[in-house]
Amino acid sequence: MKVAFFDRDGTIIEDYPDHKWSSVENPVFIEGAVNTLKEVIRKGYKIIIITNQYIINEEYITMDQYHHITNQMINSLKRENIEILDIYFCPHGKSEGCNCIKPNIGMIEQAMRKYPEINLEESFMIGDSVDDIKLAINMGIKGFGIDIGVEFQEDNIYQLKTVKDLPTYI
Ligand SMILES: [Mg+2]
Ligand SMILES: [Zn+2]
Repeated sequence: MKVAFFDRDGTIIEDYPDHKWSSVENPVFIEGAVNTLKEVIRKGYKIIIITNQYIINEEYITMDQYHHITNQMINSLKRENIEILDIYFCPHGKSEGCNCIKPNIGMIEQAMRKYPEINLEESFMIGDSVDDIKLAINMGIKGFGIDIGVEFQEDNIYQLKTVKDLPTYI
């Protein structure tokens, strides 16, 4: 099974400064993200979302708020016939030293335990943060950065202007 590991905020739905998330009630899809997800599925990938949510333990939002936003996103995607295989989130604060906060590989390890049929060589990570790219590098998988503005020398790391550009690369 080949998997497209997607970041959530800033990649599929709009991201905000940490303090602003406290008052966000509905996810807003990033232009082109839904179409890109469709194309990725059409090309035979399963989609797993991997998202840092340190704003939970750092008390900008509650666990309920996190699930409220995620569930709305999933339901909207379902209406577009887009199935998300699974979602992993790290609720830990940045100073907690957990193994799941990106760029640590804990969330992908969890996915690998649950879905041993994942073929990492055919899989990739995409996100809008340096930590998403570092996660790809730490896992040794292909990585796509969206408008990150930092150059990486590693093979297998590609820079995109927007999420719309992904289908031409896969
Ligand atoms: Mg992001
Ligand atoms: Zn964590």
